[in-house]
Amino acid sequence: MPSIFTQAVHAGERQQPPRETSVTTPLYHSVGYLEPSAAVMEEVFSGETPGYVYRRYTSPTVEAFERAIAALEGGDAAFATASGMAAVHAALLAAGVRAGSHVVAARDCYGATYDLLATLLTEQGVTTHFVDATDAKHVEEAVSQYHPAAVLVEIVSNPLLKLADIGALARSAQNAGAALIVDSTFATPYLCRPLALGADYVVHSASKYIGGHGDVLAGVVATSHANRDKLFAIEKKIGAVLAPEVAWLALRGLKTLPLRMRQQCANAGIVAQFLSEHPAVTRVFYPGLPSHPQHQLARELFGERGFGGMVAFELRNGTRQAAFAFLDALKLVLPATTLGDVYSLALYPVMASHRAVPPAERAQLGITEGLLRLSIGIEDANDIVADLDAALAATN
Ligand SMILES: *Cc1c(COP(=O)(O)O)cnc(C)c1O
Repeated sequence: MPSIFTQAVHAGERQQPPRETSVTTPLYHSVGYLEPSAAVMEEVFSGETPGYVYRRYTSPTVEAFERAIAALEGGDAAFATASGMAAVHAALLAAGVRAGSHVVAARDCYGATYDLLATLLTEQGVTTHFVDATDAKHVEEAVSQYHPAAVLVEIVSNPLLKLADIGALARSAQNAGAALIVDSTFATPYLCRPLALGADYVVHSASKYIGGHGDVLAGVVATSHANRDKLFAIEKKIGAVLAPEVAWLALRGLKTLPLRMRQQCANAGIVAQFLSEHPAVTRVFYPGLPSHPQHQLARELFGERGFGGMVAFELRNGTRQAAFAFLDALKLVLPATTLGDVYSLALYPVMASHRAVPPAERAQLGITEGLLRLSIGIEDANDIVADLDAALAATN
């Protein structure tokens, strides 16, 4: 009989998987994997036979999430990352961005994306040209002038919810031999599938709508077969891969993405309409309102499914005190710095997401002291509206 020291380590381990297929994906924590023979192991290492070698390369639970995202995005492959920013970074590197490369990126992209391009990648010899991505002509000019390795845009911008015409941008990028990377965090595959419109890489912060419950930090890049190996090679070197526990939660969240999005889009439409009629509000930014300058483009991009769960608005009393009073008076809507959750959330961009943007540049982008951004949850729309109404009364 083996020693208790040996038994304690090995007893009960490495059982055959059950004959039955489990209905939901099991959580595989293992870092290492055993093959039936050294010859098979050699085949797996060489890539000849698919299989698991080491968790950084991929592992069963993470792969289940990746396959689900690839399917929903209409792609051939997806790679899950430790965060949305790791996904943005991996996509840029897979697109060939290196020292000496140029990148054309949306001026009002996500703050950390801006920072990655404007500081870290700049220090590494990459030149980024920030452009108004809502103007396809502007992007086309920049692309033909700078011959970038990558064009990086968000379908729906933050916090003013401007839209990028993905089809037109894909044509410009393709003509110039640049890879188009689309951050589709705000749209999700429920509203839009950028790969079908010509994008080369779709990235998500799965911390937002895909996870959906405020308990997951994750990212994912979906792409076509042509880019799969480049992305895999980058992921293997960078190692910013997703942990199986988190992939399991993200996969669980994904199941209700369409249900949540359907409710969030419907609720956001009701909230946008309510705000647009409220005397304490001067402007509402929501792609579903006919007053949105790109309402028609929103219809083309999103079809009949809705216009997203994000709404921004400006207070008539556009002071910091009024914005603070509004946030403090909320009882149901949570003033937290994230978005896409089942809960309704409110964010004050000048204090949070755009804090680092100099005031003059902020003003140029249209981000004023009276601007608030809402991420509408799945609660009853009447309760959300009642809470906003009461909080708006505190802004006079
Ligand atoms: C949150 C977010 C990111 C970054 O994602 P993390 O998961 O926080 O790293 C990137 N792009 C957009 C549009 C986001 O909202």
